[in-house]
Amino acid sequence: MEYWQKELETMPRPALEKLQTERLRETVARASAAPFYAEVFAREGITPESITSLRDLQKLPFTTKEDLRESYPYGMAAIPLEKCVRLHSSSGTTGNPTVVLHSQRDLDAWADQVARCMYMVGIRDTDVFQNTSGYGMFTGGLGFQYGAEKLGALTVPAAAGNSKRQIKFIMDFGTTSLHIIPSYAARLTEAMQEEGIDPVRDTKLRVICMGAEPHSEEQRRRIEKMLGVKAYNCFGMSEMNGPGVAFECTEQNGLHIWEDYVIAEIVDPETLEPMPEGEVGELVLTTLNREAMPLVRYRTRDLTCFLPGECACGRTHRRIARLRGRSDDMIIIKGVNIFPVQIEKILMQFGELGGNYLITLDTVNGSDELTVEVELNDLFTDDYSELQRLTKDIIHSLKNELLITPRLKLVARGSLPVSEGKAVRVKDFRKLI
Ligand code: ADP
Ligand code: ZN
Repeated sequence: MEYWQKELETMPRPALEKLQTERLRETVARASAAPFYAEVFAREGITPESITSLRDLQKLPFTTKEDLRESYPYGMAAIPLEKCVRLHSSSGTTGNPTVVLHSQRDLDAWADQVARCMYMVGIRDTDVFQNTSGYGMFTGGLGFQYGAEKLGALTVPAAAGNSKRQIKFIMDFGTTSLHIIPSYAARLTEAMQEEGIDPVRDTKLRVICMGAEPHSEEQRRRIEKMLGVKAYNCFGMSEMNGPGVAFECTEQNGLHIWEDYVIAEIVDPETLEPMPEGEVGELVLTTLNREAMPLVRYRTRDLTCFLPGECACGRTHRRIARLRGRSDDMIIIKGVNIFPVQIEKILMQFGELGGNYLITLDTVNGSDELTVEVELNDLFTDDYSELQRLTKDIIHSLKNELLITPRLKLVARGSLPVSEGKAVRVKDFRKLI
């Protein structure tokens, strides 16, 4: 099936913005039926007629994660529940979980969006696509499943974990493409090596869709090399359906954000004013065609920037830069702001290291300390002086990047904790003191 939606993907900007304006007006009309927006819009005097151009978006209030939590479970439903066919819910580790509702039309549109992304990176109906995401509430499972089916690929819904089984499927079914989170991609590669399998020589893998957690360009290049694939960054979140919100094209230079599905803004998280192109701020998204649960100016907390210029692929939808992490992922230590991916970026430049690492923050003698533990690559030496030299080199590079001197522990491969889902990269014990 042909999934290059040329007319939409390369729509001239004025036409795209006209489409967005129309859809924004419809979104406001639909959202008004939800108890949450009915109240907010009534208070602020907002009606669909308030929207006559895209600039009118600025009149609309922001929606936050707290708003979603407080509306738990059905306060954001804009259509009767009997018209909703699926619910996704976050884990809710910090209070009430959030709920996202979908109608059948919403699910079809989402599958279309994912199929478009997969087609963009060269996945076809001739591919065998293995999805290593957890199924169930995690949207990376069902989201990719329906998208890949729509595209016509032969899908292998392997689900998360069990590397032995994943590898067996890859080998037996001739898997050519994967959806995988970066921390697991690193681990799966090591598991293959341990079984004496060379992913480049012995598998048919060629394209992977990699996302769900922040990762550095260096991590991507390393995974591409080890697996012998092209890895494309995919971004999404449950609140905006899940995977497919923004995706890299084969240029691998920023992620196209699908502007016929969402309106994207990037704002200063403090002042909420728009950020100029190229400057990092908080991504704010408005759904344009969702009917069960429209969201208006949703503050994602994800930090990125718009990339200037046009993409060589010809698509007109704007690109955002690789996501740096969420505002709440930022580590503040000794007055310095650090994102875990900055540390990863440095570590991944050292071929002697493996892919797994852990950052620990604690208070030693009244002063904050940052410790980086990183696994060694199995093939590396246990020669003490070599290790000493390596430690010195890594600390030096980290210090240049972070402007503080971290402590470093090189540990054996397989000795750091691994999680079934997204990797836990930071443990902050300072909060306990
Ligand atoms: P949870 O909110 O429980 O983590 P989600 O699956 O909805 O569940 O996670 C969405 C979040 O994951 C995004 O808001 C973003 O922070 C992160 N994320 C998703 N894809 C990427 C990506 N490609 N790069 C960086 N971060 C990502
Ligand atoms: Zn492009």
